Amino acid sequence: MTTPPSVPRIMVPDPAGVSYERHLALYGPVPRTRPDALLREVAESGLRGRGGGWFPTATKMRAVKDNGGRFLHRPFTLANAMEGEPVITTDAWLMTNAPHLLLDGVALATAVVGATESAIAVHEGSPQAQSLLTAMSERPDDEELPTLLEFPGRYVASEESALARAVAGGAGRPVHGVRPHNHGVSGRPTLVNNAETLCQLALIARFGAAWFRSVGDPDAPGTVMVSIEGAVASPGEYEVPVGARVSELIRIAGGVTGDPTTALTGGFGGAWTELSTIHDVAWAPEALRSVGAEIGAGLLWLQGDDDCGVSEMSRMAAYLAGESAGQCGVCVFGLSTIADEFGRLADVAAAGPPRARIDSVLAEVPRRGGCALPDGAVRMLQTGLEIFAADVAAHESGHCLTGSPGSLPVPPPMPYPVIMPGKAFR
Ligand code: SF4
Repeated sequence: MTTPPSVPRIMVPDPAGVSYERHLALYGPVPRTRPDALLREVAESGLRGRGGGWFPTATKMRAVKDNGGRFLHRPFTLANAMEGEPVITTDAWLMTNAPHLLLDGVALATAVVGATESAIAVHEGSPQAQSLLTAMSERPDDEELPTLLEFPGRYVASEESALARAVAGGAGRPVHGVRPHNHGVSGRPTLVNNAETLCQLALIARFGAAWFRSVGDPDAPGTVMVSIEGAVASPGEYEVPVGARVSELIRIAGGVTGDPTTALTGGFGGAWTELSTIHDVAWAPEALRSVGAEIGAGLLWLQGDDDCGVSEMSRMAAYLAGESAGQCGVCVFGLSTIADEFGRLADVAAAGPPRARIDSVLAEVPRRGGCALPDGAVRMLQTGLEIFAADVAAHESGHCLTGSPGSLPVPPPMPYPVIMPGKAFR
């Protein structure tokens, strides 16, 4: 296997509208490698899923492949390009700028697990889906292509068991206790990988494990896409080696604007942190977790210094409550109660709830839902209560330190709980 010292990874100069011709010129064709050999290469590369869980990709692939042989159900490959997290733009960027890497990755994953069908899941009405369709039209006539499926753009619709159920025509709600690698689309072992993971797979197939591991963290090799947003000069999508210092991420995003002192890491189910706590920490799963931050699905949001933390948390709590799939009591009633309490705290004209009341409601929710939504919401809010302690204290005494509603682009809340209908084909 060739391992050129410096070939492009996912982000290339001037990537917009990468045609199939240019894609081949940049990366070369996918080598013909036996599926078993590629699976070994993926294991040696140490690739971990970039969707938030950072689970070893080869382990997941092996489980799907083995279950396919054991249960006589042919596996299914499902690429998750649903962009479930607000503010994060990685899937949109990949579909627009690296559609052929994604298609290569789907084809390779399908071969590795012995799947007979594959699909790419995107948000309903996603403008980037057109880029994928254009890329598909450029592929050779004899290539088997994935089906492009559209699903409602809801927070938990991209959870892997919800997605597998929705592909089979059911509602896009998480399935408690069932993992798609055992029992996925129509009972078939299903490999669900997020779009970035599949793009990384397409590179490993070409350039090998040693090349992949030549950058990154020993425990999480390679590069990772990061949405760096908020109080930076050039917000947007970046690719960095896993393990790059957070200060380096801020530098490549043009440096800070204003004087941000706090950050949201991972996503809406991530963690608020003091910027000084993570400034010199590696952007890697375990390193961030060791200081109470999260890499999650790859959001680094720098909070403007004049934004009110209580207002941000209140808007996020209302949004997350509205994203409940409506099937676990603790989620339906717990998150809506939490959202109401934060709404009262944010309203300085109302008598805010005592902090002890908020703490006790938050403590009742974790580890009781059918998916990670409630636990992530509670972690984000508990860390926020600590980080924004001064804002919280001010609101408890009936005034706001900044008067700003906050700048985090939180989608408007839906009436909860949300019922998610099934799929639409393109
Ligand atoms: S915890 Fe909430 S979002 Fe998750 S499965 Fe239960 S109701 Fe659905």
